[in-house]
Amino acid sequence: MRQVAIIGGGISALATAYLLQEKAKSQNIALGVKVFEKENRIGGKIWSRQEDGYLCEWGPNGFLTNKPQTLELCKSLGLSEQLLASNDNARKRFVYANGVLHKLPHNQIEFLTNSLISWRGKLCIARELFVAKRDSKNDESLADFARRRLGDEALAKLIAPMAGGIFAGDPEQMSLQGCFPRIYQLEQEYGGLLKAMLKLTKQHRVEKSAGKVSASPAGPGGVLTSFANGIQVLTDKLSSAIGAENIICGSTVTALKRTPVGGWQILLKEQAYFADDVILATPAYASADLVYSFAPKLASLLQQINYSPLAVVCLGYDEREIDCDVQGFGYLLARGEEIPVLGTLWDSSIFAKRAPNGKILFRTMLGGAVRPELLKLSDSEIQQLVQDSLATIMKITAKPELVRIYRHEQAIPQYRVGHTQLVAQIMENAAQFNGLHLNNNAYSGVGINDCVAAAYRIADKVIAQI
Ligand SMILES: Cc1cc2nc3c(=O)[nH]c(=O)nc-3n(C[C@H](O)[C@H](O)[C@H](O)COP(=O)(O)OP(=O)(O)OC[C@H]3O[C@@H](n4cnc5c(N)ncnc54)[C@H](O)[C@@H]3O)c2cc1C
Repeated sequence: MRQVAIIGGGISALATAYLLQEKAKSQNIALGVKVFEKENRIGGKIWSRQEDGYLCEWGPNGFLTNKPQTLELCKSLGLSEQLLASNDNARKRFVYANGVLHKLPHNQIEFLTNSLISWRGKLCIARELFVAKRDSKNDESLADFARRRLGDEALAKLIAPMAGGIFAGDPEQMSLQGCFPRIYQLEQEYGGLLKAMLKLTKQHRVEKSAGKVSASPAGPGGVLTSFANGIQVLTDKLSSAIGAENIICGSTVTALKRTPVGGWQILLKEQAYFADDVILATPAYASADLVYSFAPKLASLLQQINYSPLAVVCLGYDEREIDCDVQGFGYLLARGEEIPVLGTLWDSSIFAKRAPNGKILFRTMLGGAVRPELLKLSDSEIQQLVQDSLATIMKITAKPELVRIYRHEQAIPQYRVGHTQLVAQIMENAAQFNGLHLNNNAYSGVGINDCVAAAYRIADKVIAQI
C-alpha cells in the first residue's frame, strides 16, 4: 500500500489528509495516510478555547464564504448544517482615525458622506479612474501601489488597517502580487480598480437580468462563517474523519531522509516511519530545518519567508459596564495613530454564544510586522496597554472580568515584495525531490480558504502521480 506522511497538524495538513483518503477511497486506491503533529493537540493555529463561559479564539475566528473550497469541505464532512454565519451587524466595520471611530462605507453614497476620508482624500481616490495602468509586471509593495493609485490618505486609513487586520503586516514591505493577487489582476485586466468595479458591476447587472446569476447577499467579501462552538469544530471533525489511528500527536519530526530505494524516512525522536510521499504542512522555517540535510538550497529559500509575532488579548466584560454601542465587527487603527494596537474585534457581536448572557467579549490584536517589540512586554503590561486603548477609543474604563493573553511568536507569514517569485523558486526546487510536497499558509495565501484550496490541489496531484 502506498504511504503518505503529512508533517504538521494544522488545517493545511488535516484537509490534505482527509481529501487524500476520500479521493483514494472513491478511486479504489490503497493508500495509507499518517499525520505527525508535534503538539499534543491538532489544529495548529486553530484553537477555540472555552474560558469561564466565554469562547475565545486563539487564532482565526472563521473563514469567508467568498471562496468555495472550505464550504465544499464542510459539505463533504457533513458540517453544512452546523455552519454559523456572522451576525448581520458584523458587516459594520470601523476604522479609528484622528481620535474617532469611523464606520467604513458600504456604497458610493456612504463613501461620499463618510467622515473617515477628507474631501481631498476622496478626490484622490476618485482620480484613480484616470491613473494609467502600471506597465511593469514586476512586483511592488502594497504601500507603493496604494500611493500610486489611491493617494496617501487612502493608504493610511484604508489600506494599512486592512494589511494589519489580515496579515498583521507592514504595507511598505508587503507584496501586492503575493498578498492581494486579485487587486493586481484587476489593474492588469481592467486598467484600474474603479474601472474594474464599474465594468464588473455592469456585467453582473446584465447577467442578473438574463437570469444567469443570482444576487449575492454576501457581496464580494463574503460572510465570515464559523460554528457555534468555534472554528475548531472544523479541525476536530477532520481529525475524527481521518481517524485517531492515523494521527500521531506529540510527535515532533526531527529529520527527513531519502531512502536508497526511493521514498522517505520520517524520523521522530525515538521512532522512524517510511512513506512514499511526504507533505510538509509545517511553517516555512520548520520545513527549512527538515529539508536542510538533503536540500540546503531549498532550506535557504524557505528561510527567506519571515513571520510576524502577534498577541491576541481576550477581555470579557459585564455588559452593564459598557456604555458604547458595540454592534459591529470591531475596528482597526489607521496608520500613524499613537495607540499601539492593530485593532479590536467585538467577538460577541460577530457570532452568537461567544460570551455568557449579559457579557461582552472583545479580542484585541497587537504586535505584527510594524510593532513586533510589543511581544516582549509582560502579560500585565500587555493587558494595561489594551485596557488603555479601550479607554481611549471606546471610553471603557471598567475592569474586565476575563483576561486571556495568547502569544503567537511566529503568527503569520509575511509575503514580502517578490514573494510569488520566491515561492515559484521554492516549488521548482522542491519538485526535484520525488514525492516531496509543500502545503502551508506560507505560500499561496494566509486564510483558511487558501490553505484548504491548496489542500485540494495537492491531494489531486498526489493521487494523479500514483
Ligand atoms: C491570530 C490569528 C488570527 C487569524 N485569523 C484568521 C481568520 O479569521 N480567518 C482566516 O481565514 N485565517 C486567519 N488566520 C490565518 C489562519 O489561522 C492560518 O493561515 C491557518 O490556520 C494556518 O494553517 P496551517 O495548517 O497552514 O499552519 P499551522 O496552523 O501553523 O500548522 C502547522 C503545524 O505544524 C506543526 N509543526 C511544526 N513543526 C513540526 C514538526 N517538526 N513536526 C511535527 N509538527 C510540526 C505545528 O505544531 C502546527 O500545528 C489567523 C492567524 C492567526 C495567527
